[in-house]
Amino acid sequence: MTESNLLTDPHRRFNPLTRDWVLVSPQRTQRPWSGQLEKVAKAPLLQFDPTCYLCPGNTRASGARNPHYTSTFVFTNDFAALRPDVQPLTQNDSCRGLLLAESEAGACRVVCFFPRHDLTLARMTQPEIANVVGVWAEQYAELGTQPNINYVQIFENRGEIMGCSNPHPHGQIWANQTIPNEPRKEQESQLAYQQKYGSCLLCDYLQLEANEGTRIVVENQHFAALVPFWAVWPYEVMVVPKEHERDLTTLDSASSKSLADILKQVTTRYDNIFETSFPYSMGFHQAPTDGEAHAEWHFHAHFYPPLLRSKTIKKFMVGYEMLASPQRDITPELAAATLRSLNSIHYSER
Ligand SMILES: [Zn+2]
Ligand SMILES: [Zn+2]
Ligand SMILES: [Zn+2]
Repeated sequence: MTESNLLTDPHRRFNPLTRDWVLVSPQRTQRPWSGQLEKVAKAPLLQFDPTCYLCPGNTRASGARNPHYTSTFVFTNDFAALRPDVQPLTQNDSCRGLLLAESEAGACRVVCFFPRHDLTLARMTQPEIANVVGVWAEQYAELGTQPNINYVQIFENRGEIMGCSNPHPHGQIWANQTIPNEPRKEQESQLAYQQKYGSCLLCDYLQLEANEGTRIVVENQHFAALVPFWAVWPYEVMVVPKEHERDLTTLDSASSKSLADILKQVTTRYDNIFETSFPYSMGFHQAPTDGEAHAEWHFHAHFYPPLLRSKTIKKFMVGYEMLASPQRDITPELAAATLRSLNSIHYSER
């Protein structure tokens, strides 16, 4: 199979981080499309919303009142999915592991990125986003040193289409006793790669992408944003540091600013695709906080946005994808070219 076949013929691509495959069907981009029509976002948001539980000074459902914060604000989730005080549960291994359960301790926190209700990462300034990067690094370090926290997942869920009902700029941190499925797969793959080749999987991959150039969306001195070769979502993006860094805490102030810059550039281009506040789930994969050195880990962020054809048509993961394998029509190369071609100034500011 030649490079040009990859742009025209059905094939599957390997994800070396998860060791899963994705089916790519570029020939299908010709077929007529009738996707779901989502409700289009309504009136512009208020800068301060008296009914928002994340705005400064407002009272949350738990009765706690938010401080009049001026940059970022972190609190423990009032309805946390994980809590630190669980009773250890012994697994029942009398049924050959068929009914296996374990206790899981942890913590869930909310990170407000900014006091203004109507902003997003795309519309915050680079120094404002750099503050958020700093808080993420602090939280990773602080949670990671707790004895029963071995993995810290930082993420942002953005847009009603992704099930996030509150537009206030915020993300979450869920920290676990065990390493969850996705980072565990990446952990195993990165370790196996390092043992086999004596080098880092993502350092090597980034080198290939830098040489080829077709899937890079934007880069600066310290970071590259690219549509991975094995991307599943139409405009999926991975943000990767150019140096081998295991987590956010190893970034110096210049690299933190570079990360803020790349996050702004990616989210701005996203918003510019369909001139809408682009929904996505994004999050960082960093080294587990289990006390091991984890030299194999190269931290990165994934953006998984669901939109496909317009601000109202999203990609569904159903049928074949639920039962067999994810599949995509637009090639990652085409998606990267589209993202690259977009204006770097937010559409609302032009
Ligand atoms: Zn708010
Ligand atoms: Zn590396
Ligand atoms: Zn990852």
